[in-house]
Amino acid sequence: MPELPEVETVRRQLAPVLEGARLSFVKTNRANLRYPFPLNLRHRLQGRHISRISRRAKYLLIVLDDDTVMISHLGMSGSWRIEETEEVAAESLHLTKSSRHDHLTLDMVREGRVIRAIYNDPRRFGFILLSNMTEIDNHPMLKNLGVEPLGNALCAPYLFQRLRHKKTSLKAALLDQRLIAGLGNIYVCEALWRARFSPWLATNQLVCDTTSAQKALLRLVSAIRAVLMEALEAGGSTLRDYAHIDGSSGYFQHAFDVYGREGLPCRMCTTPILRTLQAGRSTFYCPTCQSPDKI
Ligand SMILES: [Zn+2]
Repeated sequence: MPELPEVETVRRQLAPVLEGARLSFVKTNRANLRYPFPLNLRHRLQGRHISRISRRAKYLLIVLDDDTVMISHLGMSGSWRIEETEEVAAESLHLTKSSRHDHLTLDMVREGRVIRAIYNDPRRFGFILLSNMTEIDNHPMLKNLGVEPLGNALCAPYLFQRLRHKKTSLKAALLDQRLIAGLGNIYVCEALWRARFSPWLATNQLVCDTTSAQKALLRLVSAIRAVLMEALEAGGSTLRDYAHIDGSSGYFQHAFDVYGREGLPCRMCTTPILRTLQAGRSTFYCPTCQSPDKI
């Protein structure tokens, strides 16, 4: 499943190509993905210019010149790819064979070039929805999201306020999208290992004392940022069913420190990494570095 660094990588690749382009033709090849395509999708998009491409959590927000927003979520296996030609005739866009999993195509013209953006999604857990910039923060998919993990709003005082009365495990708290938006299982495991916190540590135990909580939460925040930034620099992680938008076979394999390394030596202390299930999700951790009595 594409996690936040993959989605941000897609955004960074789409933005320079699509921003400023005029949508000349919009085509869906089926009625639905996880949800039905909006009925008025073609009507709302065709003829408009793309102003910018932004992101909230794992949602790509394609903003048009009339403030319409196309929300694109990649689900488990969604990807965007770009085909581009200097020929003006749209029929000339046969650069790569269309796949049966190509569900949406956006034809655009930009500075005399013809561009086609194609959304491909074999498992169809992704979706496309429409909203408007003035309503986007209240959209049902976005309105309850917490702070962006790469933004300044994620800081020790914020976590202190939000965690002090919670009694859940630290791992469950970090996976809660209402606390931090877009942080998934892989990067939560990585951040906990990096900050040397037990995945079972209770949040109220972590923040019971203001002075030690401040230090511990700073360590946690910097670990979250570090694992995400490193993944971004590597171009996102290589995960199953996932590919770069330029059609290359997948992301650079980002070396995880703990995720997927069951039985391999911990990179800090050489103790074998363990894997267990927490609320149905895999937790990879080092029993020495992340001992429950360490805060
Ligand atoms: Zn260790």
